[in-house]
Amino acid sequence: MKYKSINFITNHLYEIIIKDSNCLIEKISQEHSLDCEEMKKKYIDNQSDIINNNIQKMLNSKIRCLGIIKSGCQCARTRKNNS
Ligand SMILES: [Zn+2]
Repeated sequence: MKYKSINFITNHLYEIIIKDSNCLIEKISQEHSLDCEEMKKKYIDNQSDIINNNIQKMLNSKIRCLGIIKSGCQCARTRKNNS
């Protein structure tokens, strides 16, 4: 992987999830004659913090480097031998 910062991967996954969710909601809205913008607001915009937190939690537990950097914080990169 070219970019190894957890932040980069988090943003990348977030964009994919939001894009797919938008597509899904558009389809559902059309089929059921619902207000698309209202649905997006309710199920995506209002959930963006939760979605972001879930991605971060998942990445932190699965691929984030467990090393501690000089400042005493946990390293913000992915694990070296992650595959
Ligand atoms: Zn590290």
